[in-house]
Amino acid sequence: MENNLLPLVVYPDPKLQTECAVITDYEPLEHIAGKMYELMKTAEGVGLAGNQIGLLHRIFVYEHENKKGIIINPQILKHEGQAASYEGCLSFPYCRFKVPRASKITMQYNTITGEEKTEDFEGFIAVLFQHETDHLNGLRIIDKTTAAEKQKHKKIIKVLEYHYEKQLEKLVDKKKET
Ligand SMILES: [Zn+2]
Repeated sequence: MENNLLPLVVYPDPKLQTECAVITDYEPLEHIAGKMYELMKTAEGVGLAGNQIGLLHRIFVYEHENKKGIIINPQILKHEGQAASYEGCLSFPYCRFKVPRASKITMQYNTITGEEKTEDFEGFIAVLFQHETDHLNGLRIIDKTTAAEKQKHKKIIKVLEYHYEKQLEKLVDKKKET
């Protein structure tokens, strides 16, 4: 049976290292955000960025406790304080990396209707928004963590790399058949 969910882009897919483009066309966003939200919930994530579904545009969806929403064209204007916690990522299954973050941020973004906003965020939401904005800038948690942290997940990283290679080989084979 075909599922209606979008494919999740997983490490080491280079889309995760691609800087995503600014959104100027707001028309299709409600539909796209709905699909992204559905996938995020199914995968039990708290955030999902455009390039994690292969959409190379600056959009992310999130949900944490009683807050949820859609953020377009985020730009962090100010970082304050320090926080470091273990972060998971839907594009790095079974891994949690300790990543240094600011504890408070000032972020400029657009709403789904194109309205421009500048707001301060702190705590978990601030960390989450830094994580998702990093995605849209082509940065992965593995790029921000320490060598020692990376070492801890060496085996899983190798498995993910192996699976990605296999997937590519399958695609090449399919092309040969048709
Ligand atoms: Zn992530």
